[in-house]
Amino acid sequence: MLSVRFWGVRGSIPCPGKTTVVYGGNTACLEIRADDRLIIVDLGSGIKPLGDWLMSPEQRKKPVDADIFISHTHWDHIMGFPMFTPIFIPSTKLRIWGPVSYEDDDLEAIVGAQLTYRYWPVRLSELSAQIEYGQIKETTLDLGGGLMVSTKYMNHPLLCMGYRFEYQGKAIVTAFDHEPFRNLFPTDPADPGYDEEVAREGELVVKEENEKILRFFQDADILIHDAQYTLPEYQTHLGWGHASCEHAIESARRSQVKKLFLIHHDPNHTDQQLRELETGYRLAIRGKTAMELFMAREGMAMEA
Ligand SMILES: [Zn+2]
Ligand SMILES: [Zn+2]
Repeated sequence: MLSVRFWGVRGSIPCPGKTTVVYGGNTACLEIRADDRLIIVDLGSGIKPLGDWLMSPEQRKKPVDADIFISHTHWDHIMGFPMFTPIFIPSTKLRIWGPVSYEDDDLEAIVGAQLTYRYWPVRLSELSAQIEYGQIKETTLDLGGGLMVSTKYMNHPLLCMGYRFEYQGKAIVTAFDHEPFRNLFPTDPADPGYDEEVAREGELVVKEENEKILRFFQDADILIHDAQYTLPEYQTHLGWGHASCEHAIESARRSQVKKLFLIHHDPNHTDQQLRELETGYRLAIRGKTAMELFMAREGMAMEA
C-alpha cells in the first residue's frame, strides 16, 4: 500500500493563528508510506509534529528508519530539521537526499548550517542519529523492495526537485516549488529586443519543458502540486517560482491524474479563502474530469 499524510502544507513561513487552524500553519512536510517503509518529503516545520508522533510510546517500539527527500533547500523546506526529535536518538537511521547546485556547499553543509551556535543551541556534530546524505540529479533510484523514485527538476529560482514514488503499480508525485516555464525572450515585434528566430526558439523550448513536466505527472494516482496563488495573484508574482491553482489543475487534468492535492498555500490565505477556492475549483471541473481535487490540509491522509 502506498499512501501519504500531510504534516505541513504551507509555503514560505509558518503561520499559526485563528485563521489557519483548519488547513494548518506548518510549512512543507509529507509522510509517505510504502507499506511499513517511511519516506519523508521536506523538512519544513511540519516535521516537528511528525517527529513527536514517531516518538510516541506506540511508534517508538521500532527505531526510526527513513529516506528523506528534500525538494530544495529554501528555508521553509528545511527549517524543521533541528526540531525533529529522532535526530537525537542513536538508533535512528536517516538517508537524506536532495538536489544541490554545483556552486554551493554540499547538502550536509547546507542543512547542517542551521545547527551551528549562531542559529541554534545544538551543533550538527552533537546529533546521535546515523545520518547519510546523498546529492541527486534527474535519475531513477531503486530504494529496494519494489519501491522506486524518479526525480525531475522543477522551475524555481533555486535547483528544485520533484519526486515520483512508485510502488506496487501506484504512483505519488510531488511538484513543489514550481511555476510553469515561460518564454523570457521578447515575443512582441514592437519590442526593441525582439528577434523572430529567438522568440520562436524560446517558445519551442518552453513548450518542450512544460511537456516534460506533464509526462512526469502522467497517470499519477496522487499529484501534490504547488498552488501558492490564484491566477490573478500569479500575474503579479511571475518568476517567484510558484504556480497558480489554475495551472496545477490544468496540468493534472491533462496528465490524467486521479487525485490532485494543492499545496504550499500562501501564508496570507485564510481557512475561509482556501475553503471557498476548493469549492469553486471543484465546481469548475465537475463533469469535465473524474479527477478528485483537494486543498491539502494538515493531518489529512490518503491512499494512492
Ligand atoms: Zn517553498
Ligand atoms: Zn522555494
